[in-house]
Amino acid sequence: MRQPPYLNQMVLLETGLEPRALLEALQQIELNQGRQREERWGPRTLDLDIVRFGDRRVTERDLIIPHPELFNRDFWRRELAELGSNER
Ligand code: AMP
Repeated sequence: MRQPPYLNQMVLLETGLEPRALLEALQQIELNQGRQREERWGPRTLDLDIVRFGDRRVTERDLIIPHPELFNRDFWRRELAELGSNER
């Protein structure tokens, strides 16, 4: 869908959280920041995703890691390479 330009940023972080607890923490941040979204894939005020989690793989109904869109988004793969994520 067409949408206005948006800012995208990837961060590398260390966490003691398990993947699901990290997802819940990210969703809480989205809520705290007043995220608004009318439709899936549509414009949103804030969207926090887990792209990779070390070498872990998760395939649950509501949590998939690596993020399924990773393979469709060149810029995500470039950002991962810039962060040296593949070496960790
Ligand atoms: P969206 O806000 O459109 O990115 O979708 C959010 C939903 O995607 C959440 O409710 C999550 O349960 C689900 N989801 C599945 N895999 C992931 C992931 N790797 N990172 C973030 N959300 C995920």
